[in-house]
Amino acid sequence: MSVGFIGTGIMGAPMARNARKAGFDVIATNRTLARAEPLRQDGIQVAKTPREVAQRSDIVVTMVVDSPDVEAVLFGPDGVAAGAHDGMLAIDMSTISPKRTKEFAERAAKNRAPFRTLDAPVSGGEIGAIEARLSIMIGGDAADVERAMPLFQALGKTIVHVGDHGAGQACKLANQIAVALNNLGVSEALVFAASQGIDLEKVRQVIAGGAGSSWAMQNYAPKMLAGDFRPGFMVDLQQKDLRLVMGDADEARLSLPGVALAHHLYNALQANGEGRDGNHALLKVIERLSHIEARVK
Ligand code: NAP
Repeated sequence: MSVGFIGTGIMGAPMARNARKAGFDVIATNRTLARAEPLRQDGIQVAKTPREVAQRSDIVVTMVVDSPDVEAVLFGPDGVAAGAHDGMLAIDMSTISPKRTKEFAERAAKNRAPFRTLDAPVSGGEIGAIEARLSIMIGGDAADVERAMPLFQALGKTIVHVGDHGAGQACKLANQIAVALNNLGVSEALVFAASQGIDLEKVRQVIAGGAGSSWAMQNYAPKMLAGDFRPGFMVDLQQKDLRLVMGDADEARLSLPGVALAHHLYNALQANGEGRDGNHALLKVIERLSHIEARVK
């Protein structure tokens, strides 16, 4: 089976490599083509446009940024829809709007050459993508999920068909609420511990084994304490996701005070030119509020 990847950024590139390792024929493209070129060393072909990727693939994976980006690579000039063919399946693994996702599924079904779609956003960070341990939350038809299962198994470990088109994205937004608030919890716990003058490495170690643990405590706290804020998942992307959550929450008259708080604290990072830091850089905001640094030197 041939699989095309559109978007070879932090997540897309290692996912394409894992698909290749699992034995799929892989062809990739990226808006900045130079970023896709190194994939040739892993036996991955590189195409110039999403259209060409679609023409040469049974399954096309999009791993770009937001809803307008998915729309552009699917339906824009030289997009996937222009290269679609009978039986082609387009799987969007970016995190985008559930509502727009449903709309894209309808447009794909009405395309000149109709194609099938799934939404299959992921969680597990850059490390999860590299180690093929992603959680994959899927929306769409069961037959398409079954067809794509060998690909999902090459990319992740926890694979759940949540419901119809858009359900995968809705689940991912729920996940992002937990991610943001876990980051906030870890940041406040570490700053408090620093204020108490106790050994922060020991604090991290013991909390990570107890009821205060989380993925953030296990994976982000070591980076926070080392002052390593390079992105696995950028603040700018975290903010994109929280905006999607708040848009849908507003429409439903839903009160999510934790999300609003986290979003505003992340705004402080963006205002300081730190939007391209990793989302665990939230620690810096909490440190600045109380003028206390939580670092292991
Ligand atoms: P990234 O490193 O910024 O990669 C995004 C890729 O999309 C880049 O290759 C970019 O091309 C391409 N792109 C963006 N807009 C485009 C457009 N309009 N047309 C064509 N290509 C476009 O981001 P990432 O961290 O891999 O994240 C990708 C998606 O996965 C996002 O939706 C994110 O929310 C989600 N996600 C990320 C993580 C994580 O930990 N990083 C985890 C789970 C889910 P250029 O190279 O030209 O910029």
